[in-house]
Amino acid sequence: MKRVFLATGNKKKVLELKEILDKAGLDIEVLSILDGISIPEVIEDGESFEENSAKKALEIAKYLDMVAISDDSGLCVEALNGAPGIYSARYSGEDANDISNNKKLVKDLKGQKNRKAKFVCVITLAKPTGEIYSFKGEVEGEIIDEPRGIRGFGYDPHFYMKEYRKSLAEIPEKKKEISHRAVALKKLIAEIEKII
Ligand code: IMP
Repeated sequence: MKRVFLATGNKKKVLELKEILDKAGLDIEVLSILDGISIPEVIEDGESFEENSAKKALEIAKYLDMVAISDDSGLCVEALNGAPGIYSARYSGEDANDISNNKKLVKDLKGQKNRKAKFVCVITLAKPTGEIYSFKGEVEGEIIDEPRGIRGFGYDPHFYMKEYRKSLAEIPEKKKEISHRAVALKKLIAEIEKII
């Protein structure tokens, strides 16, 4: 059976990616850090989701000599000119965590009426030989000051979706179908058996 490795050290991302890929019924074994395989940290110094995603997938594919799938994602807020964007993980500084990032987000939007935001995800599949294939997904919502829900991760409790009247942290099952990550993954899933 063919194998792919999920090139991320973020356990919550691994779980979301793995669940969607496993459900797709592909004839592919999906490995990750959860299988005890450790991977080096990749420095994300690109200028776009695409660049960072490709860098992560390529470095890990070469390191493990295995097909690797990476996820570079983040939150883009209209009133903040697209910030935090590719800096989403480190928005509140070097020692940032979800709590400090969300605190900064709410502070930066204080008094702001325009709450429009989107999550963006670029999934890249890289082969050890250097070929890369990228797939992008987005989901739109708005930022709320008070967190709602305890599921999910990152900015999920502050990302409100009017159509469901809930934050993404309140609808983990729905998130698997409609998130930026799910949209990008569906595009990959449609192609993966032809690619590897
Ligand atoms: P990356 O590891 O550079 O891709 O960091 C992505 C960062 O964007 C995460 O640390 C989160 O802060 C945020 N992010 C990405 N995807 C999601 C999501 O599905 N929900 C909430 N926050 C997310």
